[in-house]
Amino acid sequence: MPSTHSWLSIPADSDFSLFNLPIGVFHTGDQRPRAGMAIGNHIVDLAAAAEAGLFGKRRFFVKIFTQATLNGFIALGKPVTNRVRKKVQDWLSLPQKPENASNILVERGKATMLMPIQVPNYTDFYSSIEHATNVGKMFRPDNPLLPNWRWIPVGYHGRASSIVVSGTPIRRPKGQILPPGGAPDTPVYAASRQLDFELEVAFVIGKESALGEPIPVEKAEEYIYGLVLFNDWSARDIQRWEYVPLGPFLGKNFGSSISPWIVPLEALKPHRVKGPKQTPAPLEYLKTKGAKNCDIALEVTVKTQGQDKETLICRSNTKYLYWSMAQQLAHHTVNGCNVQVGDLLASGTISGPTPDSYGSLLELSWGGKNPLNMADGSTRTFLQDGDTLTIRGWAGENGAKIGFGEVSGAVLPAL
Ligand code: CA
Repeated sequence: MPSTHSWLSIPADSDFSLFNLPIGVFHTGDQRPRAGMAIGNHIVDLAAAAEAGLFGKRRFFVKIFTQATLNGFIALGKPVTNRVRKKVQDWLSLPQKPENASNILVERGKATMLMPIQVPNYTDFYSSIEHATNVGKMFRPDNPLLPNWRWIPVGYHGRASSIVVSGTPIRRPKGQILPPGGAPDTPVYAASRQLDFELEVAFVIGKESALGEPIPVEKAEEYIYGLVLFNDWSARDIQRWEYVPLGPFLGKNFGSSISPWIVPLEALKPHRVKGPKQTPAPLEYLKTKGAKNCDIALEVTVKTQGQDKETLICRSNTKYLYWSMAQQLAHHTVNGCNVQVGDLLASGTISGPTPDSYGSLLELSWGGKNPLNMADGSTRTFLQDGDTLTIRGWAGENGAKIGFGEVSGAVLPAL
């Protein structure tokens, strides 16, 4: 770790402390995408830093950092990605402001963040026992937690093509829906009336595995580059009608949003914690030791159309997750399924133990029965057109925060 002091002024409450240095892709109005690391209210332009020789092998790194996505950089492996991060930390910790600072630093407010990775595959887990139990109670009151849940990190293959970066609006989907009080099993084609969010965190695969070769649970974190906030938009009415017997489909695949900054797993080291006790003990290939969860505080807000004020609707934490990332990845590959650089594996909705920590409107409004009060005096059971949903997350305290920034998206009316 470098000194805790930088020649650059970094606000104490910034998500992007000297210990964080998450990576993203941005442009400054010139449509010239390049990689950057967030620091306080600035971005270290990695293409400019490479040009200035900060990482050696000038031409190689300029090429790497002027690509439209970070897949090429991440694929270089942790020895290289960690060394680049360390070089940036050292540069920011120099005793005096270096002469090349004005070429390398960009004001964050002047940058537009882009989709940081090309996502080959997306998998969504279901790893919060509180969420699985809550949803189970609503969909199957007699049998909330299915017998496999405590044995398997349950998941499904999602859609990578509709993953978008924070700030991208989401169009309300239309689909087959059973109208309330309608004839049994007679659906209509209509706009979803139960548009929801799901509070999730996803990890980015940094190293490919070979087809046919499982990733052992104790080696799983070698394959994880970093984490992003993830909003897995969901249309509950479409989902409810379609999900039997094969699970989620069009109620889920119309859009998922990610935060633009990827926080490297390395940066979260001081914030690793043990997960909840697992009963029964997992099968051998899922057994882990030590602190495999992360302590990341999460908040969700809704801003209604025309309002400046956000309403806080949920506070949760990744530490509640029953299945860890290592277990998810070991399970995903135990049959020989391979992973690719840039793959996203999402946690599933992260609900905590108390009603104010539930990570979806389905749970917060308990299936629409308990409307939530908004700052403008209106109420919500599910999202309305014009609503902006924002997730924020951070680990650590002021001065050393490992923050994710936010993932935000506004709801557009159905076509
Ligand atoms: Ca989900």
